[in-house]
Amino acid sequence: MRSLLALLLSALLASATALAASDEPTTPSKPIKQAGSKESSAFVDEGKASAKEGKQAKDTKEGKDSKEAKESKPAKGAAAARAKEAKEAQEADELAAKIAEKLAVIRKEKEQSAAANAASVRSNPKPSYKSPYAMPVKRAEGGESSKAKPVSETFGTTMHWSYEGEDGPLRWGKLNPTYAKCDSGDRQSPIDIRDGLRVDLNPVTYDYKPSRFSVIDNGHTIQVAVGPGNYISLLGHIYELVQFHFHKPSEERINGKSFEMVVHLVHKDGDGKVAVVAVLLERGKAQGLIQTVWNNLPLEKNDPVQPLITLDVSQILPQQREYYTYMGSLTTPPCTEGVLWIVLKQPVEISSDQLAIFGRLYPMNARPVQKASGRVIKESN
Ligand SMILES: [Zn+2]
Repeated sequence: MRSLLALLLSALLASATALAASDEPTTPSKPIKQAGSKESSAFVDEGKASAKEGKQAKDTKEGKDSKEAKESKPAKGAAAARAKEAKEAQEADELAAKIAEKLAVIRKEKEQSAAANAASVRSNPKPSYKSPYAMPVKRAEGGESSKAKPVSETFGTTMHWSYEGEDGPLRWGKLNPTYAKCDSGDRQSPIDIRDGLRVDLNPVTYDYKPSRFSVIDNGHTIQVAVGPGNYISLLGHIYELVQFHFHKPSEERINGKSFEMVVHLVHKDGDGKVAVVAVLLERGKAQGLIQTVWNNLPLEKNDPVQPLITLDVSQILPQQREYYTYMGSLTTPPCTEGVLWIVLKQPVEISSDQLAIFGRLYPMNARPVQKASGRVIKESN
């Protein structure tokens, strides 16, 4: 009986040691996996469950073995000896239960610390980029700082605006002095794109690569901030992708026609000048990049989700890269002008389900078209 107890003890201690030894702050799945290693389960959650079950099964079996051993003792043994053995068996069971309990506590602590780590990653996304609409904040020095600065300082915190009612697009210019351009500007976006000059436009070069990203519901749209290193260039002028976001329906129209949705890819150059690439979305088959974004939609407004995967923004681009181009503005307050618009001619498909998901969050978040006011619009031949 003593040897049985010793065996049980050593088995449990070995298991406890393995658990403690794996307590490294590296991958949260590692310790969990080790705890369940005797089950060789590849799935973390199942590994946890099966480890527990395995433990319980073991305890039960050990208890049964001791009981059998006790009963098989010859009757000639003294009653006192039997009582002693029964006591030892009971102690062994109690000890096993205690160790199992201890193991459960260790496991639970590890799970909690892993969960806490995950939560802190979630609530502290790296703000290496700013809201597009907090722009133009300049990265490099020099250039037109006069109108850019007040905008970035005043926008984004408390000033409310919306797509309908009292704070709707017709009143944006009056909500705040820094929004005045929304009313008074004559280079506003979006516009109904028509009568473009058909010319040989220089191609836009897209240099996008898989990047980390974070998804935020900013109260006006779903916006995806993209890590550094994604560029477009046009005539040798380089702009870096900062973020992209969605509007439903499309804000821009082509010869009067609007589309189901549009993606705006917002880029900035070293002087803070903005270039927006618009990709029109029409109903059709599911779109991979959009699905990845929808999979990571935040549960709360202004609480970003930073997934542990990368996103290749080039997946949202259509095959044909012909485009319309004109000078316009941000389509949300403060409606800052001087924005180069590149609207791709070929729409990209998005599924009905994907449209419906965005529609649940934002049934309508498009600014009405603005006057073209004789602006030059060019389009690829
Ligand atoms: Zn937009």
